[in-house]
Amino acid sequence: MAAGCPLGPGVKHARNGWNDIRGFDILLKNHVITESDNNQPDRRKVQNMHSIHVVAMPTATARSFQNGGADANGQLPERQLSDGEGVPCRHCLQIVAKDEPYLILAYRPFPEPQPYAETGPIFLHAEPCEHYAETATLPPIVVKCKEMLIRGYSEQNRIVYGTGQVVPTSQIVTTAAELLRCPDVAYIHVRSASNNCYQCRIDSV
Ligand SMILES: [Zn+2]
Repeated sequence: MAAGCPLGPGVKHARNGWNDIRGFDILLKNHVITESDNNQPDRRKVQNMHSIHVVAMPTATARSFQNGGADANGQLPERQLSDGEGVPCRHCLQIVAKDEPYLILAYRPFPEPQPYAETGPIFLHAEPCEHYAETATLPPIVVKCKEMLIRGYSEQNRIVYGTGQVVPTSQIVTTAAELLRCPDVAYIHVRSASNNCYQCRIDSV
């Protein structure tokens, strides 16, 4: 356990135990309370706000799909027209505007197939769009939602048990930064709270 990890040893060994997971939640809440109750500028919070990057689907991958490449299931993406509201593109991380064409395809946001490499449905602009700049700012497809599921993954691209949680969108940056301070967590997935659909990744800087 690295020095300064706010989550304590429970997280590293929190595989399936309820007590471990509950302790993890309490530690997180305590940390948030500590920050919000402090009238002085909290250096730790400031560091957290600048220690993450939101990462979208790589451009080469998006272009492959947009140029007619097969998806993770080996099928051609479906093409439809957007209703202007519920179609988040995973490359530019913007909502696909009304009547613009978009693709529906199976995406595996992991480098290779393995038991933890979930494949699921995503939307993508049908025409080439601009890659979302990697910043600590949450993208439009996330901020429009009330809450999101976030989950930590190891360097071996496996779930770090005990890290998965549904959090209000306003707390995603702080919570993700906290999770990334733990040595087992290499990156975070941001997924739909209701459907588990992959949205984007959060890396530490
Ligand atoms: Zn796009």
